[in-house]
Amino acid sequence: MGFYPCSAHGLMFKGAAEAVYPALVEGGNSERAHLRLCHDCFVAFLARAEELLVEVIAGAKGGAGDQRRCYRCDAGDTRAAVFVTAYPKGEEGRQFFAGVCDGHMDAARAAWLGADAAVE
Ligand SMILES: [Zn+2]
Ligand SMILES: [Zn+2]
Repeated sequence: MGFYPCSAHGLMFKGAAEAVYPALVEGGNSERAHLRLCHDCFVAFLARAEELLVEVIAGAKGGAGDQRRCYRCDAGDTRAAVFVTAYPKGEEGRQFFAGVCDGHMDAARAAWLGADAAVE
C-alpha cells in the first residue's frame, strides 16, 4: 500500500484511501479524475453528491428529463454532465450524475474534479 496525500485537503493521512472517480462529459469529450480521499473528506464529498446530484439506482426506471438540469442553476439546456462514482469502503460503488450548463462548467470542474473537491 502506498502513501498518498488526500486529494481534497492535500496532506498525507493514515488509513486506506477511499476513491472517487468524477468525470465531466461534454459530447464526445470527457475530463476525468481519480481522487484519493481520506475518510473525512470522502464523507464530505459523498454528502455533497447526495445533496446536489442525482443518484443512479440500478434497476430504477429513470425519466432522464429533470435529471439533465444544471445542478447549480436549474437551467434545462445543459450540454455537459458531471458523473461521479464513489467507492465507500466495503461497499458497492455509488453513482451520481447531473447536468451542467455552459456557465457552470468551470465551477463544476473545480467542485467535482479539482483540488477544491470536498472543500467547497
Ligand atoms: Zn482529506
Ligand atoms: Zn448552471
